[in-house]
Amino acid sequence: MEVEPIARLFGKREQKNDATVAVTDSASGRQLSLITLRPFTEKVNGRVGDYHIGRFPAEKGRLRSEAYENPEGFIEVTRENKDTPVSEHFRLADFLTHDQANVWPKYLVLREALVDKLELVMVELQHRGVDAQRLRVTSGFRSPQYNQKGVGRGRARDSRHQFGDAADIMVDNNQDNRLDDLNHDGRVNSKDIRVMADAVESVERQYPELIGGLGVYRATRARGPFIHVDVRGVRARWGRY
Ligand SMILES: [Zn+2]
Repeated sequence: MEVEPIARLFGKREQKNDATVAVTDSASGRQLSLITLRPFTEKVNGRVGDYHIGRFPAEKGRLRSEAYENPEGFIEVTRENKDTPVSEHFRLADFLTHDQANVWPKYLVLREALVDKLELVMVELQHRGVDAQRLRVTSGFRSPQYNQKGVGRGRARDSRHQFGDAADIMVDNNQDNRLDDLNHDGRVNSKDIRVMADAVESVERQYPELIGGLGVYRATRARGPFIHVDVRGVRARWGRY
């Protein structure tokens, strides 16, 4: 596919792949990723290609507000483009639904406002003296089919994860899949969660357009603590810290 204004700006050579194009902005020298969406209408019988997605809440007649409308489309993620950066610290693969491991391409819903918010939370943490080099997304997009499996076991029926604007996150610089000891008191507990939650609150105060959900999840036997953030457009809070 050729997108005329893009071809003019960056040259036809760059457009090798339908879904993502890596380009360099000649003014700033920064790397950009141009990502095209597959339209929502390509989902037929709950699938795009061989990849199962399921039916969105609005398709089942549950339209709570504008924010719950069907997404515009899907990003096609292949083995080749999965590491395409979507921002300084995040790439497409960070947000994929954790299912259908052997099915490619996969399809992803991801809103830029979410990625902006996550980057700003990292900036805010740094600003507060927290060494946040790596923010692990333990759950980003959840296809409606995948989300449905967890309803009644902690997942909300109309979860924002289905709309590509939610992420469950933890600072995990040492990459051990657990939240780090952010306040250096020798323990990983609700105080470290509070450090993250305070950073999210601060980002929302500075950028009201990125307002959304903030959920706090304490450690269980099975997993460590984490927080949920989203950009649903209205303030929502749950969990205690
Ligand atoms: Zn979540």
